[in-house]
Amino acid sequence: MLYSKILFGCSSIFFGLIFGSFLNVVIYRLPKNKSVVKPRSFCPKCNKKISWNENIPIYSWIKLKGKCSNCDKKISIKYPLTELATGILFFLSFNAIPKDTFFENFALNLFFSWVFILILLPISIIDYEFLWIPNSIILVGFLFGLAASIFSAILNNQNLFLNIFESLISGILGFLIIILIMKFGEIIFKKPSMGLGDAKLAGMIGFWIGFPGVIISIWLSFIISGLFVIFGLTIKSIKKGQLIPFGPFLSIAGFLIWLYGDDIFFKIIF
Ligand SMILES: [Zn+2]
Repeated sequence: MLYSKILFGCSSIFFGLIFGSFLNVVIYRLPKNKSVVKPRSFCPKCNKKISWNENIPIYSWIKLKGKCSNCDKKISIKYPLTELATGILFFLSFNAIPKDTFFENFALNLFFSWVFILILLPISIIDYEFLWIPNSIILVGFLFGLAASIFSAILNNQNLFLNIFESLISGILGFLIIILIMKFGEIIFKKPSMGLGDAKLAGMIGFWIGFPGVIISIWLSFIISGLFVIFGLTIKSIKKGQLIPFGPFLSIAGFLIWLYGDDIFFKIIF
């Protein structure tokens, strides 16, 4: 039992690193409107194609000492960090004990947790860097959320129509709550505080975690972002009036609720 756990844990990290490497491609190319499938990875500075042995997650970056083997230009540390983050998140979802098990089936739970990570992580990083949430990833998120809803209904012997309906209502609710907060923010602060992308993201997350998770996740995301801003202002890494992307906070809150259920967070914050 222990050995199989160690084996599962290690392979979770292994798969996380590999998929994290793919996420780097998505995060780098999507904001530039380039295809994420073709061509092979290349150095953005000198266009040298990156061979497979220079493309091993984390290891290659360390071996190349963070520099391109051809032009010696720096390769950002954010690439190995993204791979590491994916690995850790994949591992955490293997080890999580969701209170309301979405699926009775461990493998399906793990599969959809990993998919959720592969959707939320690039959204968070792209929003953090470019203050932009790509519609294409949101759409992929909706499609997989729909698939999760259908699978869970079939496997848990629930009413398929009701299950999809609940997801849909939760999604619309998440979208509308953010729109409302946006409108209020505009009236009070006289400037946009959130974007339509945030509303779509909250809707997509609501589609995945359902009701009342969607409401708790939005509440939780405001608490986390508040703490983050206070901390940032204290250590002076955030300036007053600076635009803060909200996508990462929605994603963190949504994923926490997906992993651990909404009961525990309901008790903590209410
Ligand atoms: Zn180069």
